[in-house]
Amino acid sequence: MAEFLQLNPQLKGIGFTSQRTRNRMVERLIQQGITDGRVLEALRHLPRHLFLDEALAHRAYEDTALPIGLGQTLSQPYIVARMTELLLEVQPRKVLEIGTGSGFQCALLACLVPEVWSVERLDPLLQKARQRLRNLQLHNARIKHADGNFGLPDLAPFDAILVTAAPRELPEGLLEQLAEGGRLILPVGDREQMLSLFDKKEGRILRQDIEPVRFVPLLPGAEK
Ligand code: SAH
Repeated sequence: MAEFLQLNPQLKGIGFTSQRTRNRMVERLIQQGITDGRVLEALRHLPRHLFLDEALAHRAYEDTALPIGLGQTLSQPYIVARMTELLLEVQPRKVLEIGTGSGFQCALLACLVPEVWSVERLDPLLQKARQRLRNLQLHNARIKHADGNFGLPDLAPFDAILVTAAPRELPEGLLEQLAEGGRLILPVGDREQMLSLFDKKEGRILRQDIEPVRFVPLLPGAEK
């Protein structure tokens, strides 16, 4: 786990939200079926309220998705935890997230995986997310301004790719950026979306559907 969790108690933001509030969130996640101890422990410490605008910060540990501006949302804790747990199953050392948004999922990954890349198409969100990671001293995560539909071909292969916006269909090319034994995790669909896994094993792709979900759409292009 990243050192900041041990070294910088003030960064955990205790005092603003009590540890009790966070523990309650973690208890709820356990009831909802999250079992990976590393994910639960990181979520117990990561200051989710620092990834929201001040007016919404008091709702950070509720079991709900929250707006982060520009029509985008930070997913509810359960879905962030579930996707992270599925990602850790392949023991990744280098991962790519598509759709940085607030940077919360990216920060969680940075607590659990040595090398994290994330791409975001909206520059204002990217700037804020980058500052949050810097404040938390999560230097093993880097954010790029790009259209995630194309992944990050120059930095491939990745042991896992996690997409936090929903394409109608699987974007071509993402599977090519997976390492052997790697896993792509993403919601696919339009109004009805399915959280799906694509595992690359001995050159073959195995698909598994996990559960219905609701994400903002994966849009084309990167904007200023
Ligand atoms: N993982 C985020 C939640 C993101 S919401 C968090 O933890 O807060 C989905 C994000 O995907 C939005 O910020 C949206 O701008 C971004 N997005 C949508 N289409 C994209 C694309 N083609 N490339 C990169 N980012 C995209």
